[in-house]
Amino acid sequence: PTSAPTVRPTDPPASEPTRGLIQIRDVHKSFGANEVLKGITLTVEPGEVVAVLGPSGSGKSTLLRTINHLERVDRGTIAVDGELIGYRPRNGRLHELREHEVLAQRTQIGMVFQSFNLFPHLTALENVTEAPIHAQRRGKAAVRARAVELLERVGLADKIDAYPRQLSGGQQQRVAIARALALDPKIVLFDEPTSALDPELVNEVLDVIRSLAESGTTLVIVTHEMTFARDVADRVVFMDQGAIVEEGTPAQIFGTPRHERTRAFLSKVL
Ligand code: ADP
Ligand code: MG
Repeated sequence: PTSAPTVRPTDPPASEPTRGLIQIRDVHKSFGANEVLKGITLTVEPGEVVAVLGPSGSGKSTLLRTINHLERVDRGTIAVDGELIGYRPRNGRLHELREHEVLAQRTQIGMVFQSFNLFPHLTALENVTEAPIHAQRRGKAAVRARAVELLERVGLADKIDAYPRQLSGGQQQRVAIARALALDPKIVLFDEPTSALDPELVNEVLDVIRSLAESGTTLVIVTHEMTFARDVADRVVFMDQGAIVEEGTPAQIFGTPRHERTRAFLSKVL
């Protein structure tokens, strides 16, 4: 609460109708003296798939984490489906939401991390049903039926009762995706979802993400899988040193990058 950002003159009044499912406006974030996000502005439309590329340390994970208020922004605003994340405007200032309000917002935003973060003592099914039953307090039978459906959708119909230690990394990550979807999120954020996987397991996870993209789910994916980004993303955003250097269609970014830093990055990774 001490660092609640003020609403600045350039911010829209809270009543103004918003465009875009995710609206990130001039977001700044520092860790101590290290300014990690230097004014990020990005709009993601409903159903859009946005791939975020950039060198290590450029602020990609921090940006994703600000979207569900795992990191507090120092300045700027983020709205999801017209709802301000983490704050409520009152008397010309933004007041931080209470913990339970932040948690309620977070359930609308699915997040899949590099390290799958499954509960080791719960089965695949229990991992998927945990949050809907305990955080959203939805009925157990309906949640279980939906979880089974989601595990089938990610190709794990036969692993429903397996524990994480009995699953490969690719299978664990697919459970993590089913878990994110079980909250019926408005958007799903992926932070390098295949970086921790053995190479032969990468495609089974990318295939699941691809089918999500094709079904119209709004996705933001930080990835180093350039072929995947080129094939699946509607838009590619290239970040470097806390800023968006350029963005465009995959054809533009991979085919005719305008900035030297984008070219230098792509020449290293392609
Ligand atoms: P990327 O995901 O693009 O590799 P990050 O967002 O993880 O970049 O990190 C950007 C910068 O912020 C790095 O310099 C990193 O060391 C720093 N950073 C990230 N998280 C923290 C934190 N919790 N405390 C201090 N510094 C952090
Ligand atoms: Mg990262």
